[in-house]
Amino acid sequence: MTSTAQQEISVSSSSGSRPVSKDAIINLDHGDPTMFESFWKEVGEAADITIPSWRTLSYFSDVSNFCWFLQPEFAHEARRLHNLVGNAVADDRFLVIGTGSTQLFQASLFALSPSDAPEPMSVVSAVPYYSSFPRITDYLRSALYRWSGDASKFEGDAYIEVVCSPNNPDGSIREAVLKSSNGKTIHDLAYYWPQYTPITAAADHDIMLFTVSKLSGHAGTRVGWALVKDVEVAKKMVKFIELNTIGVSKDSQLRAATILKAISDGYEDPDLQTKPGLKMFEFGRRLLSMRWQKLREAVKASGIFTLPDFESVHCKFTGETTEACPAFAWLKCEREGKEDCADLFKKHKILTRGGGHFGVESNYARVSMVDRDETFDLFIERLMSLR
Ligand code: PMP
Repeated sequence: MTSTAQQEISVSSSSGSRPVSKDAIINLDHGDPTMFESFWKEVGEAADITIPSWRTLSYFSDVSNFCWFLQPEFAHEARRLHNLVGNAVADDRFLVIGTGSTQLFQASLFALSPSDAPEPMSVVSAVPYYSSFPRITDYLRSALYRWSGDASKFEGDAYIEVVCSPNNPDGSIREAVLKSSNGKTIHDLAYYWPQYTPITAAADHDIMLFTVSKLSGHAGTRVGWALVKDVEVAKKMVKFIELNTIGVSKDSQLRAATILKAISDGYEDPDLQTKPGLKMFEFGRRLLSMRWQKLREAVKASGIFTLPDFESVHCKFTGETTEACPAFAWLKCEREGKEDCADLFKKHKILTRGGGHFGVESNYARVSMVDRDETFDLFIERLMSLR
C-alpha cells in the first residue's frame, strides 16, 4: 500500500461519535449525515421495518428484471420520490441498485470503459473534485481506466468525466466541462435534493447516481441507485455488481424502500399533511439554512476565512426562491502565505479535509455541515474563538 493510501484511511476514534466535552476533538472530516437523526426520531414507527427471519433468503429479487437483485418495492419508491420532487427523469430509465453510490460509481467506470482498448480510459473531474473519485478509480490499478485529474486541463477526446452537482466539496452547480462526442459522463447527483439546493429542472443525463446516505441520512444502510438511459450500459453495471457482491443486501433495500416511502408519504398522505415536522426536505432545509447563517456569522467574526456565495434561485419543488445550503462548507484561509487550512483547524482539535484531497491548494478545507447539533454548535463556538 502506498503511503498516500495509508494516510487516507481516515476513520479515527472520534468518527461517528458525539464530542464528550467542550474541548473534545470535533470530527467534521467525513460527511457523516447524523443531523437527520432527530427527524427520524420524530417520524417514529412509520419508517420502522421488521423483516421476518424466513424472508430475504434467496439471492434473487426479480428475475424478470435485467437488474435481478433489485427489490421492486425499492424501484417503485425511488421513482415515486423523483416524480414528487422533480429532480430527475426516472420513468423509462433503467434503475440499477448498488451498495451505496460508491459501488455504482465503480460499476459505471466498468461499464463505460471498453474492454479491448490498448490504454486505460482516462477518468477526469473538474477541480475541486470529490476526494474519493481519484482514490476509488486508482486503488486496484485497473487496466480498464485510470485517474487523469482535472477535467479542465484534459486534452484528448476519449474520457469519462465525472460531474458532481451540487459539487462536493464546494456546493457549486456544475455541467460537464468537456464536450467531445467520444467522451462519456457520469453525473453524481447525491446532493440534488431540495434540502441542499433549489430544484430547477428534472435532470436527464446518461448515468445519474443517487444515494440514501445524503437524501435521508441513512448512510449506514449502504444503498444507492443509478438511473441509466442505455440498456447495454445498465446491463454492464449489473454485471459488475454481480461479480463484485452478487447483488445488494435485500434487507437494506427493503429498509431503504420504507424510508423513501415515509418521505413521500410526508407530502402525499393526507393524514400526515397536518404535521409539518414530518416533511423531510423542510426539516433539512430549515436546519441547514440556520447552520449556514451561523457559519457565515462566525466566519465573518473570525476574519480569517471566506466562503463561497450562492445565488438565490427559484426552487420548483418548494416554490420559493432560496440560496443553496450545501452539505459541506468549503472554507478558504485568507491569511498571507497560504496557510494550511486543515492544519490550522487541527491545532484547534477540529478535523476537516484539506484542499489537496480535492486537487487544489491546502489553503482550502472542507467541513461537514450535516453532523449532529451538538457537534456543529461546538464547531461554531470554537470557530468564533479562532484567531
Ligand atoms: N458521491 C458523493 C458526491 C458523496 O459526497 C458521497 C458521500 N460522501 C458519495 C458519493 C458516497 O455515497 P454512498 O454512501 O452512497 O456510497
